[in-house]
Amino acid sequence: MKILALFHTQDDGSLPKASLETLTSAVTLKEQTSGTLAVGIIGKGATGAANTVAGCGAESFLTVSSEAVAQARYATDTAAADALIKASGAELVLAPGTARFTRCLPGAAHRAGAQIDTHIVSVKADGGQVLTQRWFYRQRILGSFSRTARPWILLADVGVNAPWQGTEGVADAKEVAVSFDEVDMRTSVSGVRSPAIDAQTIKPDATVLFVAGAGWTKKQKDGQFHIADAGVLIQDFLQKAKASLGSSKSLVDLQSEGQETLSFMTHMNQVGQTGSTPRHAKGLSTCCHGEEPHAVGWRFINERRAINLDPNCGWAQGKADVVYVGDAFEIMTKINALLS
Ligand SMILES: Cc1cc2nc3c(=O)[nH]c(=O)nc-3n(C[C@H](O)[C@H](O)[C@H](O)COP(=O)(O)OP(=O)(O)OC[C@H]3O[C@@H](n4cnc5c(N)ncnc54)[C@H](O)[C@@H]3O)c2cc1C
Repeated sequence: MKILALFHTQDDGSLPKASLETLTSAVTLKEQTSGTLAVGIIGKGATGAANTVAGCGAESFLTVSSEAVAQARYATDTAAADALIKASGAELVLAPGTARFTRCLPGAAHRAGAQIDTHIVSVKADGGQVLTQRWFYRQRILGSFSRTARPWILLADVGVNAPWQGTEGVADAKEVAVSFDEVDMRTSVSGVRSPAIDAQTIKPDATVLFVAGAGWTKKQKDGQFHIADAGVLIQDFLQKAKASLGSSKSLVDLQSEGQETLSFMTHMNQVGQTGSTPRHAKGLSTCCHGEEPHAVGWRFINERRAINLDPNCGWAQGKADVVYVGDAFEIMTKINALLS
């Protein structure tokens, strides 16, 4: 089995953590198949990046590091990936599912006459064939499958393998020539505009997921709505705990019904059967009933806690490790004070 671990560098010339995770998987597969491993790297500083993984046991290191691939661009990245796949003669290509590769590798697969599968969570050799796994139908069914087509490109999900750790050295990387034409180069990135770090509420790398439910927008014990107070409390917690923000469907649906709700919440935050299934070490659900269509989105939250006025809520029925029966307005005020 000829395996290519295909990576790209970051702006500072280093390899993203996702690449090191994929390298762990590629090295293991090489051992399982008694195959050969090539490492291919695209981007600025690719030669230096190859040196940082020189001790991985790869037989060869191939790079495309010309100015054309210094910035992420579909046409040039696709041409570079195609060239590396062909130069390596790889039957199996393992690459991290970063935004840059998710965009360009399907095109590279077409050019290289390869098959491609995305969101791979496991790759292993099994009785002479390579068996992979990915989730289907919004992470409800885990499928195991193999393909006979070669080359076969597998885009690995981030966070499923431990990052490779090993020695640096001199990789003696070979630069692969790619002829980029003018059409390839016509898009250029003039800069990056992104929201302020505080404005980004969905943070996949956060330790804690904070989920807000529709209860925040309901009349409270004084008979009044306190939506503005809820917004302040939630944003204060997100900032102090550096938590990611999730929502129940009911809360985000209120917005489309024109009701007053939390302005910083969108459908992108929705967790559940028809929402997302985020991965975090801990989760805190507040003012959310914990019904099954919502709680099913919590399957990758390791430690689950909930705050609800109702001791009979769904969380209390085996869906959370700890349920605080109490008023989330009061509890979150106290938690924020403690975090200060
Ligand atoms: C096909 C289908 C798909 C669905 N997909 C999803 C999905 O992807 N995600 C999702 O979330 N839902 C989904 N749902 C909807 C789901 O069944 C629930 O209706 C929804 O999750 C309820 O939202 P909620 O718990 O925020 O609101 P509610 O059910 O209104 O619960 C509000 C909770 O807040 C509590 N509360 C109120 N005030 C306070 C306070 N001061 N302190 C503490 N607690 C308080 C109340 O006790 C109550 O339990 C789906 C439904 C269907 C039929």
